[in-house]
Amino acid sequence: MSKLETINSYGFSTKAIHAGESPDPITGASSPNLVMSTTFIADTDAGFSVEGMEDDNSWIYTRWGNPTIHQLEEKLAALEESETAVAFSSGMGAITALLFHLLKAGDHAIISDVAYAALSEITNEMIPQLGIEITKVNTSDPEAIKEVLKPTTKLVYIETPCNPLLRLTDITAVADIARSVGAKLAVDSTFASPAATKPLQLGADFVIHSLTKYLGGHGDALGGAILGNKNDLTPLRKKTAIRLGGSLSPFNAWLILRGIATFPIRMRVHQENALKIATFLEQHPKVKRVIYPGLPSHPQHELAKKQMKNFSGIITFQVENGKEQVKEIAEKLKVIHYAVSLGHHRSLIFYMNNKDLLQTSFHFSTPQQLDSWKQFAGEEGIFRLSIGLEDADDLISDLKQALQ
Ligand SMILES: *Cc1c(COP(=O)(O)O)cnc(C)c1O
Repeated sequence: MSKLETINSYGFSTKAIHAGESPDPITGASSPNLVMSTTFIADTDAGFSVEGMEDDNSWIYTRWGNPTIHQLEEKLAALEESETAVAFSSGMGAITALLFHLLKAGDHAIISDVAYAALSEITNEMIPQLGIEITKVNTSDPEAIKEVLKPTTKLVYIETPCNPLLRLTDITAVADIARSVGAKLAVDSTFASPAATKPLQLGADFVIHSLTKYLGGHGDALGGAILGNKNDLTPLRKKTAIRLGGSLSPFNAWLILRGIATFPIRMRVHQENALKIATFLEQHPKVKRVIYPGLPSHPQHELAKKQMKNFSGIITFQVENGKEQVKEIAEKLKVIHYAVSLGHHRSLIFYMNNKDLLQTSFHFSTPQQLDSWKQFAGEEGIFRLSIGLEDADDLISDLKQALQ
């Protein structure tokens, strides 16, 4: 057995460090090589189209595949316990490739009514304009999915916990429902990360990650990935990843590889810090409501305990007159950056105003959907706080003085 073949028998932290990597056979370099070459010396019998590409072909052109990106894909597959992975230039690059791969005119897809804003926005207009029918439902209620299933349903797309509400969806329950009509289930697991949840083991067909967030972990590189079976992903790589061109830079792949080495330890600290800060916020007189899957007050805490081995590091909370206070709070914060994104070593906070979000991103078709939104986001809006790896006491002091 080669050294790489034994990787699946190792624990999560060992995989994070060693999977996909092997010392350079020529120089003996222990760190992965960064191969910044778009093109590779080809065999004279190599074809010019990706159509003829075999699995074991040598490298040809970086949009088709690259040794550094390949190392990252192998590491991601080991962590997610999937057969394979395809990396993209961003999480959205991965999502659009998946939609283009699975859907054509006349097909129907069911999408979570609250999900990453850019996905919500392309499925409000761009995708329906291609003749693909989209139904948005609150996927945390599996019955709501059952009600809108059609013989033409090809995809059920969920995000758990969803951005920005931190509402959960029961993956096992939804996988059964999708399977009943032969639809594929895709799970955006960016918020949970493979430290918390392994959607493929719960019945999902595809997992999406924005590597920009917890996996990369340092706020310095965009990246995305789709994970799943070789049967699904080998054609996906040929038909969409390579042709649509959302390829990851090998440099970003190398940064993300480096980030993943510490991913399991980071997730433990993200969770530990987040629980302390969520508990602090819940007791703060100015805070009306805190949502964190690790708190017993989360409406789906039982599902969180069942489906998440780590509650991750994102908290949302409501304060009285949030919209009026946001400028002052942002100016007062010294450690926490007022900025979008999440999953970095730095703590980040951003205010999300209901009125804006419901106009631009989330379009609800039933009163139940709006009720569920309000149950999590309140009437006005929420602060989304991504807890970093600073000392929890410093983060608590920072929030204390900013909320005063
Ligand atoms: C950030 C994010 C994305 C998009 O990822 P990018 O790398 O920014 O393109 C998708 N899904 C979720 C849940 C995210 O948080």
